[in-house]
Amino acid sequence: MRSVGSTLEDFERDLFSNLYFQRGTTIESASGSDGYHTLALTVRDRLVERYARTAAAHYDANPRFVYYLSAEYLLGRQLRQNLLYSDTERFVHPIAEDLGVTLEDLESYDVEPGLGNGGLGRLAACLLDSMATLDIPAVGYGIRYEFGIFKQGFRDGAQVERPDDWTFYGNPWEFSAPDDRQVIGFYGTTARALDDPSGLRRQWTPGETVRGEPSHMLVPGYGTQTVNIIRLWQARASRESFDLSRFGAGQYKEAVEDIVRAENISKVLYPDDSTEQGRELRLKQQYFLVACSLRDIIRRYRLRNSGWDAFPAKVVIQLNDTHPVMAVTELMRLLVDEHHLDWDLAWSITRRTFNYTCHTLLPEALETWPVSLLERLLPRHMEIIYAINYFFLQEVEATYPGDADRIRRLSIIQEEPEKRVRMAHLAVVASTAVNGVAELHTRLLQATTLRDFAELWPQKFHNVTNGVTPRRFVRLANPRLSALISERLGGEQWLTDLDRLDGLAPAADDPAFLERWRAAKRANKADLAKQVEKSTGVVIDPDALCDVMIKRFHEYKRQHLKLLHVITLFNRIRENPDLDLVPRTVLFGGKAAPGYHSMKLLIRLVNAVADAVNTDPLVSRHLKVVLLPDYNVSRAQVIIPAADLSEQISLAGKEASGTGNMKLALNGAVTIGTLDGANIEIRDRVGAENFFLFGLDAHEAAEARRDYHPREYYERDPELRAAVDAIAGGMFAKGDRGLFGPVVDAMLGRDEYLALADYRAYLECQDRIEQAWRDPDGWARMSVLNAARCGFFSSDRTVRDYCDLIWRVEPVRVLDGG
Ligand SMILES: *Cc1c(COP(=O)(O)O)cnc(C)c1O
Repeated sequence: MRSVGSTLEDFERDLFSNLYFQRGTTIESASGSDGYHTLALTVRDRLVERYARTAAAHYDANPRFVYYLSAEYLLGRQLRQNLLYSDTERFVHPIAEDLGVTLEDLESYDVEPGLGNGGLGRLAACLLDSMATLDIPAVGYGIRYEFGIFKQGFRDGAQVERPDDWTFYGNPWEFSAPDDRQVIGFYGTTARALDDPSGLRRQWTPGETVRGEPSHMLVPGYGTQTVNIIRLWQARASRESFDLSRFGAGQYKEAVEDIVRAENISKVLYPDDSTEQGRELRLKQQYFLVACSLRDIIRRYRLRNSGWDAFPAKVVIQLNDTHPVMAVTELMRLLVDEHHLDWDLAWSITRRTFNYTCHTLLPEALETWPVSLLERLLPRHMEIIYAINYFFLQEVEATYPGDADRIRRLSIIQEEPEKRVRMAHLAVVASTAVNGVAELHTRLLQATTLRDFAELWPQKFHNVTNGVTPRRFVRLANPRLSALISERLGGEQWLTDLDRLDGLAPAADDPAFLERWRAAKRANKADLAKQVEKSTGVVIDPDALCDVMIKRFHEYKRQHLKLLHVITLFNRIRENPDLDLVPRTVLFGGKAAPGYHSMKLLIRLVNAVADAVNTDPLVSRHLKVVLLPDYNVSRAQVIIPAADLSEQISLAGKEASGTGNMKLALNGAVTIGTLDGANIEIRDRVGAENFFLFGLDAHEAAEARRDYHPREYYERDPELRAAVDAIAGGMFAKGDRGLFGPVVDAMLGRDEYLALADYRAYLECQDRIEQAWRDPDGWARMSVLNAARCGFFSSDRTVRDYCDLIWRVEPVRVLDGG
């Protein structure tokens, strides 16, 4: 095996070699993009060598592998991470200096692969990072969307979505692996297998085939030699789809029709599902991902194993939410129809292989698909679902004889108003373990959303509280704070043992340390101010309280409650210009789904309020409001280190966990939050005196919703009324009362997420925050204690929990090559 050297000279030699032989250019004519690509390749070479050793170690050990199936991955940019993980950043600075470029220049070409939406996709990325760091043999499977999550811009304050052509300049971090392509089917017919007396084995003849072409990106562990991979599938027409005779006859459009249809499958993340075609495409994507991945998993299994008995001992598949749950039916089909296992054995293998992570509590977010669509698109899989359900309901009948209502509730098939498949039910029935993502979430899943299943199989349910990787979200995002932490703790071991942050707690009483802690935060805020000015033109004061609400726009997350606070401050200052207010910057970031009209309107309102605040000479002395466009992982890495206050204000009982809350606390932001998701666990750890709690708890919220009249709150509270009236009266729409009318109607009509009920408590809590901010040492102390006590929220701990409770996999050490 060729080995890459570990010295500066080796690195420099490889850099010039890659520039010449891989990019095909010279130092004299190289562009900035050439420079970036060359650096990326040279860093990648270091990881490739580790990957080769990892693959060899895995081959020798033949261990149990974790296969993580996820429709989304929000990986973030790769260059800085891979420089850190390969310990080569120190080489880059002297070489770059010689060449008259900076790492920042080169990094500007590093593109974030936007293959996800938000928390769920970022969790997948954090878990892969931690699995590699803990030497867990693992492969992540996903789709290589040609266009990832849209790029968000604003026109007249309204969100505009532009396609994200993220591979336009090529992606130096990925390898294509055409030898491992797979061909999968859709549509068609099924028939009885004549030699199978049970009738359970059948023959599927697809009506269309599509090729899945894999590529992989390297997922290095930090402080170890392990490099795992994430394998991404891109759809291609199978070769015979190109109609040469039509092309020859001048029918160019028709000649490529099949190609276009096939390739549409991996075109975009979450196609608009407001049309029948859009919904079909989504289901096609889901099946495409799992059908390709399962064939690949079986291919890998067979490299070292024969027969099927060992399959569950060597393969554990984790379903990240229900998007990949068709993998269950596909494994059954492969085992029964293609490998001729009898049904019971196949089912036993399947059930011992799968596990399911549930990510929601909102009943409307639980996926279902019409039986009619499945019958057409995946006829054999629909038959398998019916058979699974038949045997499952027999089990239920045996446990609860005659309980027809319970059978109806538990069934994988929903009968009314149309026949649909409940994907979460299929996932629970087929899995060994089902987990929620924070303690409250798991409890509520068992008590409400999946209650009947929790009664039937209590031992299946586990909690695994989410976590985030401290490498990306502290070390890379916040080098200043990281240096201070390492100095205080006497090394960088905390990066792989985050409980060591606890050692910072005594420093919370050391004035000299608090001073340096504040200085790091202040410098981060100055960096953020530069970015904000560059992308919005708004000038913000780095000394103001930096109050951030960064997350997808969704009604349950309650950005509108935050906005009511902002408008109230606006009103207060205008009424009393001499008011002694704490200077504050309110920073929003987040995208709304393209079809989510009420949230797009709210975005427009946030921008309009920001405009009114920032251009008012009196108000803008105390308050600035910014909605930073195109929130993504790269932006998160700039905003989070600068935050003083973390807004986690979802209606209690609605946020499964949250992970933004953890990233912010670890960077020394103090949380204002409800008793929701992981906020509860954060508060338990940092202490009630270092957390600003407000509002209804989950139980109170559920009670309050039974008989709720938001208008009563509006009428009783003059400040609330003034804030709502300002919107209704057209104050933020140049007098147009119609424009934001729907926002007002939603608040005063149903107020689905009880924003008005929590408004007064929220405002009083914000007033307490102002008092606390006026004591800089007291605030810095809270900030330090938040970071010090949040070591639990490392995704390393999350992965350990998965290993202990669910996966039962063992690490495989990869020996150093040097
Ligand atoms: C962490 C993260 C999220 C999740 O944020 P929540 O506040 O938990 O919803 C979403 N998007 C990005 C880019 C993130 O990094």
